[in-house]
Amino acid sequence: MDLVELIKAAGVVGAGGAGFPTHVKAAARAEILIANGAECEPLLVTDQWTVISHAKLIAEGMRALGNRVGAKRLIFGVKSHYTDVIQAMTPFLDGEYPIEIGLIGDFYPAGDEQVLVHELTGRVVPEGGIPLDVGVVVSNVATLANIRRSIDGQPVIRKEVTVTGLVRNPGVYEVPIGISTAEVVAAAGGVTDENVAIIEGGPMMGMLIEDWSKPVTKTTGAFLVLPADNEVVITRRRPHAATFRQALAVCCQCRMCTDQCSRFLLGHRIAPHLAMRALLAGGAYDLDGVDAEGRRFGQPSGDDIPFEVRAMGYLCSQCGICEVWSCPLGLSPRYVFGDYKAGMIARKQPNPLKNRPETALEQQAWLRLPKPRLVERLGLKDYLLPYKGTTVPVADPWEVNIRLKQHVGAPAIPIVKVGQAVSAGQCIAEIPTGALGARVHASMTGTVAAITDQHIKIVRQGV
Ligand code: SF4
Ligand code: SF4
Repeated sequence: MDLVELIKAAGVVGAGGAGFPTHVKAAARAEILIANGAECEPLLVTDQWTVISHAKLIAEGMRALGNRVGAKRLIFGVKSHYTDVIQAMTPFLDGEYPIEIGLIGDFYPAGDEQVLVHELTGRVVPEGGIPLDVGVVVSNVATLANIRRSIDGQPVIRKEVTVTGLVRNPGVYEVPIGISTAEVVAAAGGVTDENVAIIEGGPMMGMLIEDWSKPVTKTTGAFLVLPADNEVVITRRRPHAATFRQALAVCCQCRMCTDQCSRFLLGHRIAPHLAMRALLAGGAYDLDGVDAEGRRFGQPSGDDIPFEVRAMGYLCSQCGICEVWSCPLGLSPRYVFGDYKAGMIARKQPNPLKNRPETALEQQAWLRLPKPRLVERLGLKDYLLPYKGTTVPVADPWEVNIRLKQHVGAPAIPIVKVGQAVSAGQCIAEIPTGALGARVHASMTGTVAAITDQHIKIVRQGV
């Protein structure tokens, strides 16, 4: 069977991002394949530990995908100080179809696809574009391992997840997809303090989880158990309207957010300070509730904000540098851009910004945010994990809730019934005909206990 079909059958999606279905990417043509092993979110070590545990699989996955897309070069992108990761990959680099090591500095956001492509090839992805636009395909290391497994007919049913912060046994855990957040934290020994909050993902781009029954999906990368009074948590609990009120009241237009914006530095026409100025100049905002059209408070009504400024929302990666690092007043241009983009999508206005810069800005080479300083700024130094370790497999729980949409595209359609016995690895939901999506598989053997429009619940047999 062709690799694209094998990947599709196994339900492989991008493990390090939004979950783009990998079979679509594998059907493209590209000159260069980059393995993204540059994990850059503070505290996360999932990719590093995954490479150390599965280097051979990742190298074989690179060659298989590289062959399929016609890549002339295979580059394993890794930070230069991840020496254990480089050592783990070294025995698998040479051969007829060699893999190069592409070294990157320890800055944030080095793992952002567009930054990574620029670092390793010198090419700049166009505004609103993807790496394929410049002949490059980028795949996360865990995705590459899953691609290799798909050749053996193994679907994606488990996920490696960093668990750190206020837990007894921080580390990287290999868990069945569909296990709850609370059970993953329990597997890490449980919390060491009562007053904690959990962030899913990294401290820069992750989301606060208020409901600890939320299940692990194919894209879950980490759970950070942080003190409830840590700034990372406080920022996420701040009411949206308060963020906008602050922006309206105090932005001094110093433009530090723009000068240090990771996408501006790549040469894209994004200017967070202009997003804030547009807010100041505008005024048609309902800061106290939801407006007549059902938009949440703070969302610009549209016509009073220049179209090209609203469109910059499409160019924002939500990396968070402007909010966490640049702004001396603690304002959040990224939230504003998030709303601008949501408004554009709601109005069915596509991204009009499509410039193709040939080079990044000169200052991109020195205006890099050192990750250790970012960790200090976030107050997270105590929760750092070593770059090397052995992942801990977690046994099947009593039940799993497997999401029908763990990927970009349409939710999968259940093909099992309540009461049906299923075995681990069995396909339980299919891609809707003609749609972009990914198959979903049972992550453990058991019985289908419930099916909703969101989940399929499987309970262990005999429970
Ligand atoms: S850095 Fe802060 S104060 Fe300065 S322009 Fe940006 S949002 Fe305004
Ligand atoms: S989050 Fe801020 S720094 Fe990052 S791309 Fe968006 S505007 Fe630029």
